[in-house]
Amino acid sequence: MNISLSSDFATAVPEMAVSWEAVPVEEPELLVLNEPLAKELGLDPAWLRGDGLPFLVGNQAPGVAQAYAGHQFGGYSPRLGDGRALLLGELTHADGKLRDLHLKGSGRTPFARGGDGLAAVGPMLREYIVSEAMHALGIPTTRSLAVVATKNVVHREEPLPGAVLARVAASHLRVGSFQYARNTGDHDLLRRLADHAIARHYPGSTYLELFGQVVAAQAALVARWMSVGFIHGVMNTDNMTISGETIDYGPCAFMEAYDPTTKYSSIDHRGRYAFGNQPIIAEWNLARLAEALLPLFADDEDKAVALALEVLGTFQEHFENAWMAGIQAKLGVTGDVKPLLKDLLALMHENHVDFTSFFHHLAKAAKGDAEPARSLFLDLAGIDAWIARWRELGPDAARMEAVNPVYIPRNHLVEEALQAGTDGDLGPLERLLDAVTAPCGERAGLEHYATPAPQDFSATYRTF
Ligand code: AMP
Ligand code: MG
Ligand code: MG
Repeated sequence: MNISLSSDFATAVPEMAVSWEAVPVEEPELLVLNEPLAKELGLDPAWLRGDGLPFLVGNQAPGVAQAYAGHQFGGYSPRLGDGRALLLGELTHADGKLRDLHLKGSGRTPFARGGDGLAAVGPMLREYIVSEAMHALGIPTTRSLAVVATKNVVHREEPLPGAVLARVAASHLRVGSFQYARNTGDHDLLRRLADHAIARHYPGSTYLELFGQVVAAQAALVARWMSVGFIHGVMNTDNMTISGETIDYGPCAFMEAYDPTTKYSSIDHRGRYAFGNQPIIAEWNLARLAEALLPLFADDEDKAVALALEVLGTFQEHFENAWMAGIQAKLGVTGDVKPLLKDLLALMHENHVDFTSFFHHLAKAAKGDAEPARSLFLDLAGIDAWIARWRELGPDAARMEAVNPVYIPRNHLVEEALQAGTDGDLGPLERLLDAVTAPCGERAGLEHYATPAPQDFSATYRTF
């Protein structure tokens, strides 16, 4: 099969694209392939499984390592870039739009600093599972095309089997890409990068409109995350896209018992990226994008700052609108749900109620059987009073069932699948994928996938 990849990014901003080759993989072994996605990209799944395997690990043509900067946990690094990743090029999706084909774990690049350039099977399978679950939930995200085992040993706390993830994205343009371009002091480079982003994602926009579109897309995205209890875990500016897709599934996890301070990453000491902080962090990251774009907004700096602040000020409203629309759908009602939501979240927090299970079971209460939802609470009088108020609004069960997932990639199930996959048994991964890629509507025999983790697991669980 002859595949022609375009190189629009490298052509637009060659200063930010270092031509580079993936490390040769002698014995690639396909662990998981996303056949529907392959077909949407015009790639023959049978070829990818056979002669095309070297293509999936980057051994057929060179790619580029992309340069970017970023604020990591609030501290600025002027030069991050793809240390262990490569952009192979762009493909045209069946929808007519371009997609990046990108590899992770393909060896050291000039941006690797102290890193080994490699990735272990477990984390690459984690990205595959969680990104495909997010896609099935209708949340904008990069996709996973394949995970290929390399038979290399990756040295972490223990020796682990290596893998390469083939990832597909609307693009890999990040807030950090613009920070990098701005930091060079080369306004022509900044302008070319912005023109490229506009052509690719927001055709016809002015530079200020580009910023406004990213603000709107990120506000909507984070509202979607919050509506399913998703915690990204490492919202550094280099992990925030211009397209509005979720990217870089590292220490991510789904919250179980509702608590806005929930975090699962042990390196996030202060809880900067905890569940409830995600909207304000997104806004902070967008302020960093505005700073990078300032020279394009107006020649006069004061004027540019005033324009940027006005647009940044729309974040709150975009977020509130998306979050309220999400909550109305989850509760199956219309109108002002703010007081109802506030009281519900307080009850869920006090009673340590599993976020996903509650909304899943609440649809049953809309049809007359409140027992599955109310029995999640110790404070029965409290939840009974709340359910009575909610019922007065005439909730629509079908609408609730269409948006509230039954099956999410619960942390203990993900760990079980990754451990088995690392040990060579892909059965648990395949069964988990089957559950989470059709997340809404109960299916017989899948109760295991709808059940929260045992308490002792959740209390100590860390993704990283
Ligand atoms: P991440 O936390 O995965 O978003 O990565 C942050 C930065 O560290 C990026 O520049 C990555 O390319 C780089 N990086 C992460 N892991 C490795 C590794 N094993 N080898 C080289 N670079 C890495
Ligand atoms: Mg990253
Ligand atoms: Mg990463």
